[in-house]
Amino acid sequence: MTRFRVIFPNLRCSYTRSFPSSWLGSSETHTRLSNRFFRRASHVTRGSPAVSGHLWNGNPDGTREVPDMFQFPDVRSFTKMIVGCVQTGRLDDALKLFNEMPVRDAICWNTMIKGCLDCGDLTTAEELFDEMPEPSVVSWTTMIDGFFRFGQVERAERFFKQMPIRDLAAWNAMLHGYCENVRVDDAVKLFEQMPSQNVISWTSMIGGLDQNGKSEEALIVFERMFKSGVVPNPTTLTCALSACANALSFPFGLQIHGHVFKSGFCLSVFVCASLITFYANCMRIEKATQVFNEAVYRNVVICTALLTGYGSNGRHEDGLKAFSDMMRTSVLPNQSSFVSSLNSCCSLESVDRGKEVHASAIKLQLGSDVFVGNSLVVMYNKCGAVDDAVVVFKRLREKNIVTWNATICGCAQHGRGMWAMELFSQMIRGLVQPDEITLTGLLSSCSHSGMLQKGRCLFKYFSENTSIGLTHEHYACMVDVLGRCGKLEEAEDLIRNMPLKTNSIVWLALLSSCKMHSNLDLAERAANYILDLEPHCSAAYVLLSNFYASANRWGDVSRLRMTMRDKGIVKQPGRSWVTIKGQKHLFLSGDKSHPLSENIYWKLDWLKMKLKELGYVPDKRFSLHDVEDEQKEDSLFYHSERLAVAFALITTVEGSTITIMKNLRICGDCHSAIKLIAKIVDREIIVRDSSRFHHFRDGICSCGDYWCMRLFLLHEPVSILSLLIVLSIDTSGAELHEHYPIWAYFYC
Ligand SMILES: [Zn+2]
Ligand SMILES: [Zn+2]
Repeated sequence: MTRFRVIFPNLRCSYTRSFPSSWLGSSETHTRLSNRFFRRASHVTRGSPAVSGHLWNGNPDGTREVPDMFQFPDVRSFTKMIVGCVQTGRLDDALKLFNEMPVRDAICWNTMIKGCLDCGDLTTAEELFDEMPEPSVVSWTTMIDGFFRFGQVERAERFFKQMPIRDLAAWNAMLHGYCENVRVDDAVKLFEQMPSQNVISWTSMIGGLDQNGKSEEALIVFERMFKSGVVPNPTTLTCALSACANALSFPFGLQIHGHVFKSGFCLSVFVCASLITFYANCMRIEKATQVFNEAVYRNVVICTALLTGYGSNGRHEDGLKAFSDMMRTSVLPNQSSFVSSLNSCCSLESVDRGKEVHASAIKLQLGSDVFVGNSLVVMYNKCGAVDDAVVVFKRLREKNIVTWNATICGCAQHGRGMWAMELFSQMIRGLVQPDEITLTGLLSSCSHSGMLQKGRCLFKYFSENTSIGLTHEHYACMVDVLGRCGKLEEAEDLIRNMPLKTNSIVWLALLSSCKMHSNLDLAERAANYILDLEPHCSAAYVLLSNFYASANRWGDVSRLRMTMRDKGIVKQPGRSWVTIKGQKHLFLSGDKSHPLSENIYWKLDWLKMKLKELGYVPDKRFSLHDVEDEQKEDSLFYHSERLAVAFALITTVEGSTITIMKNLRICGDCHSAIKLIAKIVDREIIVRDSSRFHHFRDGICSCGDYWCMRLFLLHEPVSILSLLIVLSIDTSGAELHEHYPIWAYFYC
């Protein structure tokens, strides 16, 4: 700033008025100009371009220095300084300047009112409006816009009615305000009443309808606009293309693309980005890539559109490549780019790629942004790294309901029930209103961690004390909580007395609990209900058939298999996969197709020997085929999850964590074997099956060993270790477990 003081102390020239303000963009230019022109004479407007210069340089602070250099700043200079203060959020300084002004014109008043609204101070804006000698139509419109921004629709309507003269801008402000406040029907009514419509009115209407889920109607309005002879601008085309993308209206979009091409609007980044999104949504990703390649100018909006398009077309590898290309070409990603690329990492189940994206987010100081943070929590949870998800959660400065829900549901899936409860209590203490997803997460953590009493209390509390409507998912979760803890009759009563019409989801929850507790009568009853409601439910057939197989009722098994065949129901084969260095390796039971098959089977035989040394006896009830004992043992040993574990053991660094994914539930015998394998190789093995994550370490699983629980309930011999495991449920949550006051209420 001192440079300005040196250059301009005796500034005396009115020529500055005619210079473009960008000339004043650097101190060097200032020097040159001052040397050549600013020799003598003065004029009151001389400060004004200097103010502009500071603003152009993104240095509104500099505007503070400017008033010192002239004694009588004019209204224009003052107005510019007010704009500068408002842009940096210094409303008090702006108001001080405004009050110091000897004379004010309408532009200055309107600038100050808008400044108050931009800084979130509606009350002061209203006071200024009341004090204003003669509010112009612009002042009225600014206030209307302000009321809509603060969600005060009724007051905006009242102002609009009171307006002495209404110009098109005022009508457009009303239209835009209605659309922004989800009052699209009122917007349509107003649009029809308007004395005339310009391109802004049409664009607001098209965009408003599209954003409020009425994309088809938006396209009808666009057609009407075209017929009425109004020429669309790039914003109109962007809105119309977005409507085509949402309504999946491919032919319409193609026509708009033709118009874009003819009118030359393909140079606009927003039009280009909308075209990419449109083609991607219509599953024409190649065409989207072509639009991207042909774009003259590529910025973050266009790159993110392509990145998101790849994600929605299941081309996650390409999406991540587009993300790294973006970084390479110095296009700085924004929140949306990070959210899309993290979603791709999530779909690829690749925690390593996710960590790379996380590192980039930290470098660009977006690591603690709430939207990026939410995606990080989801990514880490889905890739099996619940501890990392919790660390990200803790570091987030701002958290919204999505953050809380994502973390609670993640803890539930990983069997960290106590963490989920503690998070819920923190959420309540922080006055964050829980929603239906929070309840689903909490109930599933109760079910995965065997917390019967808490589950009951939560269900009662939410149904009696909150306005959250209980859904089938909530009932299914509650049935699961009761069922897993052996309260099968109570679970059946809950289903029979539920106010909603029962569906197959709730009965399936009961059926799988029956299997766990070997209650064949109830299982058959539940299966009958399911098959009445949904005759082709393969899950019910498979569960019941497995049930019969483990009870050695092979006649019933073949009867069920015949029925399945007659009805054309196909049992999904069990598949496990592991991602190593970005490549997914898939295994089926007894699979020998992998190039490293020989090494995998050698490793499995070695593990078999080690397991026998530890006293492991295969539980043949989990081999669901009517074959000889030895064959049963063999088929058990080559289940897909074990092949994946063996493969991961021979291809990864010693001591690193192994993450296996499985499409069905892990079988009980594999569960026992992998626990011991984790102990033998001294590594953490994470298995995500169709219901949850199992973290195996030191011979223990984080799920609290429901398979052991099952043996215990069957009154079969149970080892001391198994009993200890049952009792050790959730001691892993000790870190987050210190403060527990609110739970006094739920403990009953
Ligand atoms: Zn198995
Ligand atoms: Zn487990």
